[in-house]
Amino acid sequence: MLASYAVRVESSLGRRYPEAPHPYRDDFQRDRDRIIHARAFRRLENKTQVFTRRLSDHFRTRLTHTIEVAQISRTIAAALHLNESLVETLALVHDIGHPPFGHSGEHALDEAMREHGESFDHNLHALRIVEQFEQRYASHPGLNLTFEVREGIIKHSHDYAPADYPELAEYLLDKRPPLEAQLIDHTDEIAYNTADLDDGYEAGLLKLDDIRQGVSLFDRYYREAEREFPAVRDKLKFNEALKRMLNHLVSDLITHTAHRIQSSGVQTVEDVRCYPERLAAFSPATDAQRAEAKQFLYCNLYQSAPLRPQKADGEKIVFDLFRHWIANPAALPASYQRKMETDTPARVICDYIAGMTDNYILDLHKKLISRVVTK
Ligand code: MG
Repeated sequence: MLASYAVRVESSLGRRYPEAPHPYRDDFQRDRDRIIHARAFRRLENKTQVFTRRLSDHFRTRLTHTIEVAQISRTIAAALHLNESLVETLALVHDIGHPPFGHSGEHALDEAMREHGESFDHNLHALRIVEQFEQRYASHPGLNLTFEVREGIIKHSHDYAPADYPELAEYLLDKRPPLEAQLIDHTDEIAYNTADLDDGYEAGLLKLDDIRQGVSLFDRYYREAEREFPAVRDKLKFNEALKRMLNHLVSDLITHTAHRIQSSGVQTVEDVRCYPERLAAFSPATDAQRAEAKQFLYCNLYQSAPLRPQKADGEKIVFDLFRHWIANPAALPASYQRKMETDTPARVICDYIAGMTDNYILDLHKKLISRVVTK
């Protein structure tokens, strides 16, 4: 059933530490299961996607977002006859390197690191998690994932310049990733654009009329829902429109990517890798609608006044704790102090903070910082 340009598990470049085959799961299925059983994966439950837990329990968390990305990715992979197990694995791991407090946490951590001549990047952090921090096996550090999964973690959403990242040379930075990894960047965006409209509307921060005016793809399907179900309440029409918008984005990504694959003439994974550009893409018309939705969310939700205090709080908490440990490295847990023998203090503190859940960092901030201030 696999297309000739799909990644085949039997052609995998393998694991760092060779392992005997499993009797009934292939290597990508085993990688998927290793990620599901990882501590960092479980912590996604308590990491902000857009809304913190303090607002409501039914908004997306980074874990439920991740599950939605996996669902959408599998549908698309199956339709394109790509390797579903690899795509599912990459979807499940794609946000594992995110720090607490969503993008504000990431931004604050990066800023704090820049004061020390370093930086924070969630894809690079994800690689450190699966290679070093997860301790599950007696025989080796990390999860010992296959090359294709590690490569996808690094390359799914970003092209790293080979000259700037010599330590990533093994991941073929001068080549494109396989289609299985290319898909993830788009499915991630399909998932969050639609989910954030949903949660933003549910939170009362986005008004129906504004969404209809600012997101033409949504409006098109809302009109359709109004014609078909004139008597139902707005929220059900909203759900109907959003579901059709999601389906439109998914269908367009499938058909346009299939079209590009065909017209490019690629036959093998190596052809995909060597093709001058990524082949997974929306059609130009749908891509413009996708960009419009993203821009709408950026202006009306992510940067909106009601979410500003939550963002500012998150950034402050990250900065406070980072500076607290830079000034008092001896106050770090013993296991992190030992890591300073091989990494800079800034990197060790960054790794520590990046691994925290929202709840954990809030408690720690209360214990270590707020108490000192109010004394
Ligand atoms: Mg994501």
